[in-house]
Amino acid sequence: MSAYPDAKGRYGLFGGRYVPETLVPALDRLQEGVNRYLSDGDFQAEFLHELTTWAGRPTALSYAGTLSQRWGASVWLKREDLAHTGAHKINNAIGQTLLAKRLGAKRIIAETGAGQHGVASAAAAARLGMPCVVYMGAVDVERQSPNVDRMRLMGATVVPVHSGDKTLRAAIDEALRDWVSDPNGTYYSLGSAVGPHPYPYLVRELQSVIGREARAQMLAMAGGLPDIAVACVGGGSNAIGLFHPFLGDTSVKLLGIEAGGRGPGLGDNAASLTFGTPGVLQGSYTLILQDAHGQVRETHSVSAGLDYSGVGPEHSFLMKSGRVSYESATDDEALEALMECAKHEGILPAIETAHAFAGARRYADAHPGARILICCSGRGDKDMPILQRTVLKE
Ligand SMILES: *Cc1c(COP(=O)(O)O)cnc(C)c1O
Repeated sequence: MSAYPDAKGRYGLFGGRYVPETLVPALDRLQEGVNRYLSDGDFQAEFLHELTTWAGRPTALSYAGTLSQRWGASVWLKREDLAHTGAHKINNAIGQTLLAKRLGAKRIIAETGAGQHGVASAAAAARLGMPCVVYMGAVDVERQSPNVDRMRLMGATVVPVHSGDKTLRAAIDEALRDWVSDPNGTYYSLGSAVGPHPYPYLVRELQSVIGREARAQMLAMAGGLPDIAVACVGGGSNAIGLFHPFLGDTSVKLLGIEAGGRGPGLGDNAASLTFGTPGVLQGSYTLILQDAHGQVRETHSVSAGLDYSGVGPEHSFLMKSGRVSYESATDDEALEALMECAKHEGILPAIETAHAFAGARRYADAHPGARILICCSGRGDKDMPILQRTVLKE
């Protein structure tokens, strides 16, 4: 399985690089940088040093005793919410910013949806002494205001994007446009395992630290591998980071949970694998939410971080190959799961993360006694404005 992607960045039918001519030199340059530095000993040593002395790794593995009792299962949480800046995003952001330095870039740009990748990018850029510009959909600026202020405090410039869907998709388009205008001086730090090759591969490699740690921690603490590993899927970076080191363990079932939003209708969810069809989105051939005319449709999810009409191409491949299963959880199911985790484990997960809890609980109901590993991708403090308007109001 790790043979993927091939030389053209393809995962089976999916992936590749569907971009305008103007982007090709920038991507070629990035590809050379990835080939040259990613597995280089010095780079890896510096990456590991930042992860352990600055970003808080390894993150804990927690046994969730009360959830285990309630669900009739054995539930283990990989605590990415304990990583610096509150989510798994920091693994990728610090890795790409180190790469940017190696490539001689003078400036970091990033896009953000929930704001988590923006915060992680701002933090990594501040840490390594580089200026940072973050593009963010105007809708997301509104619903994730605490994160906007965090980015500003760390010296980043936040640019609200008013075009297109005014969310993550428009922010990525804007960042790509900026990058094209100065591909040598600017490094585009992409926040999920999406986009044109080599980004899905680069992000997977940087995030696989999650699964490598979790696998070793399960063996040491739980006495064996999990029966199933569960993660939420937006673009798919925390999920691929968790899943990848388990792909060769055929006894371990892998389950990704997408945002089911209000229901299965087009426009009511952000579940590209569950409800989507193949097409090209932002440089990659993958499963996307589009209408019968190939128009990419706007999405809905209560969680800004899952609100995206595409998904990383490796997930499309892993679904078609049958190695990974994907399901969705609705807004209401996610909010209910969030409250259960907060009340009974003392952990307030991000609303994105809560989708994984909802999916895991469903699995536990059908498989009594299962040993379940959940990627707790981030903490929910950033979601307080939404929680105040929804669950705290009821
Ligand atoms: C951004 C984010 C996600 C979704 O992104 P992926 O690339 O699918 O991991 C999930 N959980 C949290 C906490 C996030 O910040």
